[in-house]
Amino acid sequence: MRKDPKLFQHGTLAMLVAGLFDGTMSIEELLKHGDSGIGTCSGLDGEMVILDGIAYTIRRDGTVEALSGDVKTPFTCVHFDPKSPGQKVSGFSLPELEAYLKGQGMGNIFYAVKLTGRFAKMKTRTVFKQEKPYPGLSEVADQQAVFEGENTTGTLIGYYAPDLYQGIASSGFHLHYLSADHALGGHVLDFQLAEADLSLTHFSDFDLHLPTSNADFLQANFDLASLNDQIQQAEH
Ligand SMILES: [Zn+2]
Repeated sequence: MRKDPKLFQHGTLAMLVAGLFDGTMSIEELLKHGDSGIGTCSGLDGEMVILDGIAYTIRRDGTVEALSGDVKTPFTCVHFDPKSPGQKVSGFSLPELEAYLKGQGMGNIFYAVKLTGRFAKMKTRTVFKQEKPYPGLSEVADQQAVFEGENTTGTLIGYYAPDLYQGIASSGFHLHYLSADHALGGHVLDFQLAEADLSLTHFSDFDLHLPTSNADFLQANFDLASLNDQIQQAEH
């Protein structure tokens, strides 16, 4: 019997909210746990997309770079894509896709979303590399670069996390995009789908890996009361 894929996550979103941006796991190590996913690089150096076992970062100037194994990440989610057959979908905007997926009755489980196809419109953002002392995530999100493209072909990939896990992840949908020609990518803000294959991968197992030798993390204090507001501001 096929073993269900597992969701592997290094770090938590709450760590980024608190300004813990230092990379604490190498891409080489990360890719042992999955060939597909999303994340960010050390210092919030762009938005990361992992496809077919290659990690890319989309930087603030719009350039896309395939990352070498020694680059480090503070926060990334990966899984092994089972490449199960998808379903054809067309015409969705981002809110329409979210409403459609929410209607599938999977609100309390983690799952991956992958859309491969043509997008009539795509709007993304990228954060940009920060230097120490790091600000909080919401300040970085205020300085983001926004990109828009029309008739772009590529892959949208990301995850749904139940509300209960806000802080571990960003609750709700967290989606990134990379065009096939690498001309457009980043954290997805909006889109209008032409047509694409939609595949969903649900996870019974969530493997959370923490940077137990990072001194900043070990000493950090997390402000739980403001966490939800800060994530909503930075990630949506
Ligand atoms: Zn993102």
